[in-house]
Amino acid sequence: MEPIRVLQWGLGAMGSGMARLMLEKSGLKIEAVIDGRPDYVGKDLGDVLGVGKSLGVTITNRPEDVLKKEKVDLVILATTSWLSEQMPDLRKVLSAGINCISIAEEMADPYAQSPELARELDELAKKHGVSVLGTGVNPGFVLDLLVVTLTGGNHSVERIEASRVNDLSPYGPTVMKSQGVGTTPEAFRAGVADGSIVGHVGFPESIHMISDALGLGVDRIEQSREPIISKVHRETPHVTVEPGMVAGCAHIGVGYRGDKEVIRLIHPQQIHPQLENQDTGDYIHIYGKPEIHMAVKPEIAGGIATMGIAVNMIPHVVAATPGLKRMIDLPAPAALMGESAYSRHI
Ligand code: NAD
Repeated sequence: MEPIRVLQWGLGAMGSGMARLMLEKSGLKIEAVIDGRPDYVGKDLGDVLGVGKSLGVTITNRPEDVLKKEKVDLVILATTSWLSEQMPDLRKVLSAGINCISIAEEMADPYAQSPELARELDELAKKHGVSVLGTGVNPGFVLDLLVVTLTGGNHSVERIEASRVNDLSPYGPTVMKSQGVGTTPEAFRAGVADGSIVGHVGFPESIHMISDALGLGVDRIEQSREPIISKVHRETPHVTVEPGMVAGCAHIGVGYRGDKEVIRLIHPQQIHPQLENQDTGDYIHIYGKPEIHMAVKPEIAGGIATMGIAVNMIPHVVAATPGLKRMIDLPAPAALMGESAYSRHI
């Protein structure tokens, strides 16, 4: 079996983890890497990853040199959260006739907030005979695909409530800022008002996917962001939180059909939740026939699972019919542990 040839675009925390994972997979080969960081450009991938040997792949900041469909079967984009920011790069990949996976949160379901861009991506992919998917741990898995899959045996579903309670401590300064960690409650509220504190990115996408998959008819989505105010001293390498300051963001997204609430997604994220006896976990409650309650404790590890799901979806995206796909449109992801995991579509 010939390995699937992958171009990794974006070699940050997620992209470098994906690259390391792909090196372990016999069915995948890293053909090229793009990143704009001046300290990476021109270096061998092996040196940047610190794997102790040269891999014969030189990092470039010139997409036009490596986006060749004769050499690359699929591009993984791990650069930004925002669809509008990623559109120029998505256009380049699809126009080159190459399949694409993106972990941009807004790419999980571009129909949710940008139907025009979604249609453009769908048409472009179809024109060039390739497919494009947005995925990740969340959105892309825990608060959408997993929810949808759990209803697989249901006769009916009245209402869904799902929550992901996690620990932000491992993340860097960008995440601390976008979640408002280390601010005062007043600065947090001002940040939410001016858009500099966003909390989680992905509720409209997850709610739209669940509603679409089940036919729940959600016609309105509302979101709220509240500060999680610490009672104790908390600290990470990037931020210090004294009692009375903000340790995280309690973000809620609710989907309504008319005036009836049908989907509630809850995502409180904070540093060191254990210091106030807060367990972490993923919880899904389906109210209908039958009623289902699922708990995963602690939560599915976000970084590991994002790298994993993006890589594990590669064979599905290469084998998919052309067009824009969401996780609800393709076969369920599975870990790539042997030859049948790559070849079962052929
Ligand atoms: P990061 O900041 O560590 O890395 C981004 C990398 O991309 C950097 O090396 C940067 O130089 C490079 N880059 C950015 N734009 C580029 C461009 N146009 N061309 C070339 N290189 C470019 O970020 P990360 O932690 O790796 O995450 C990447 C994105 O994925 C973030 O926006 C993050 O929010 C998102 N994400 C989504 C999920 C999900 O569940 N869907 C999970 C994790 C991360």
